[in-house]
Amino acid sequence: MIWAETPSNPLLKISDISGLAEIAHASGAQLVVDSTFATPVLQQPLALGADLVMHSTTKYLGGHSDVLGGAVIAREPDALFARIRDLQTKGGSVPAPFDCWLLQRSIGTLPLRVRAQTANAQAIAEFLAAHPQVSAVHYPGLTTHAGHTLACRQMSGFGAMLSFQVHGGRDAALAVAGGVQLYTRATSLGGIESLIEHRASVEGPHTSTPQDLLRMSVGLEHVDDLINDLRQALAG
Ligand SMILES: *Cc1c(COP(=O)(O)O)cnc(C)c1O
Repeated sequence: MIWAETPSNPLLKISDISGLAEIAHASGAQLVVDSTFATPVLQQPLALGADLVMHSTTKYLGGHSDVLGGAVIAREPDALFARIRDLQTKGGSVPAPFDCWLLQRSIGTLPLRVRAQTANAQAIAEFLAAHPQVSAVHYPGLTTHAGHTLACRQMSGFGAMLSFQVHGGRDAALAVAGGVQLYTRATSLGGIESLIEHRASVEGPHTSTPQDLLRMSVGLEHVDDLINDLRQALAG
């Protein structure tokens, strides 16, 4: 099995889904894509050759930071999928009716939320890329991003997750996270409210994530408010 997460957490790296599917299938393996960051609105891995797709429905599908869940979608109802179903049935990891109801209501607005959040993220990424305090921005919607061309080919939009690095190391990053007023300092992602986190702190002492990196999940607030808040936090 090849397991891919694209775009990836937290550097938003893009993996070539159809290329990976070819490599997997040439040796009889299966390709699984964690497409949580892209959402089903912006990326359809099954159409690009993946065998299984997973989403944390906790994120964009739920969209309101009030439900925990996940989904596995198979291209074919094959033996592996039968095993997954069997494990779910016997292991009892079945979502509660209320959680299903919340998800069903949320999915109705998924395309609108994702496209609006993506537009906000693109504007914020462009603002950050031009800011003197920022040393790097990781967002596939920027033409300078290493995965931009590939993302154009396999996604219909670049999503609302981004990360950036600041000059001044860990302390400077923590100061920005501490200085914002509109963003909530929290992990998780995909909700209508914007979040910011010092990723290395969340991942712990053995992380390979740069200490000067902040990850953002961009929500539905007015883009001017989001940018102005970052501007004042970056000014210290
Ligand atoms: C959050 C997340 C998960 C895990 O999902 P939970 O619902 O928190 O268990 C897996 N993959 C990605 C890309 C995620 O963002």
